[in-house]
Amino acid sequence: MRRSKMKLASLLLPLFLVSSALVVVTPGYSFLPELTIPAGGGTPAANHWSMSSFQVQWNINPSIGSNVTGTTSVTTIISNSFSTWINAPNTSANVTAGATSSITQEKSPHPTINLICFVCSDVSFGGTETLGITLSTSVNGAGLPDGHGGTTQFAGQIIHADIAFNPAVTFDTGGGTGQDLRTVATHEIGHFLGLDHSAIAHAVMFPQAASVLTTLSFDDVAGISSLYPKTPADVGTGSISGTVTMTTGAPVFGAHVFANSTTGVDPFGAFPTIRPSPIGALSDTAGNFTISGVPADSYLVIAEPLDGPVVDSDIGWAAAFNQPSVQTNFTTRWH
Ligand SMILES: [Zn+2]
Repeated sequence: MRRSKMKLASLLLPLFLVSSALVVVTPGYSFLPELTIPAGGGTPAANHWSMSSFQVQWNINPSIGSNVTGTTSVTTIISNSFSTWINAPNTSANVTAGATSSITQEKSPHPTINLICFVCSDVSFGGTETLGITLSTSVNGAGLPDGHGGTTQFAGQIIHADIAFNPAVTFDTGGGTGQDLRTVATHEIGHFLGLDHSAIAHAVMFPQAASVLTTLSFDDVAGISSLYPKTPADVGTGSISGTVTMTTGAPVFGAHVFANSTTGVDPFGAFPTIRPSPIGALSDTAGNFTISGVPADSYLVIAEPLDGPVVDSDIGWAAAFNQPSVQTNFTTRWH
């Protein structure tokens, strides 16, 4: 089923607005950062917040419609969902709950409020297939206004993000009916923190929603810890790099490459909520890939075309490299 992710043209240069949506498809299923091309060109930069520029906060409007059912408050659901990411192994992300907000229009100016909204009527969801949307703003260089009285530190720095939940979808906070809210919130918060969709089955950042999926996979952990690394790490990791080529030697752009444990060892065993999964990446225009955040283990590395169930329009990889499309004219290979 189609997902409506858009890399919209910049709102106001040099700000880039990324809108990422989670759609409901059951069931469905490489962690990838959202990317910003630096002002001078070159390698796309991974979007993430600066944890030293200003306190990164989320501001919930606790107002809900009758579409939200269940006994747990939405504030508790959102807080718990942020904790899932903040407490991930190898991760240091200081994101806190800010003051509540009464804003009901996402498009109203609120540069220092990162709005979590259940009643924003001005967000276009295009029906009930889209459960939630994260709208984030990043910059394409250092030295630009950061919206908090300071200046930005790097290309790809996120300076603002809102999450809107679709008021036309029935959500369940626990004991109610409808789509599990925490599942959607955990996914959207991954976008809030800078992660794009993953093509790894069972990752939280897979673009199609599971009925209930509230814990992180190895792929999600590799993603969040690469954006916000903790020193020293809880679990030592390395990276797997290589090049995907055709038999002619021509590089393959946008191959989905993933590392799958061959042993069943659980390197994150001290973190019982972390689920085993392959860890993925996509190849760049030279065919090069690096899978980072990989714990010590023995792996099978597989390259496959990004031709479904997750496709390039779910991720925007080609656009991030100014390419018309990713390459899918090859067969799955493993090493
Ligand atoms: Zn999404």
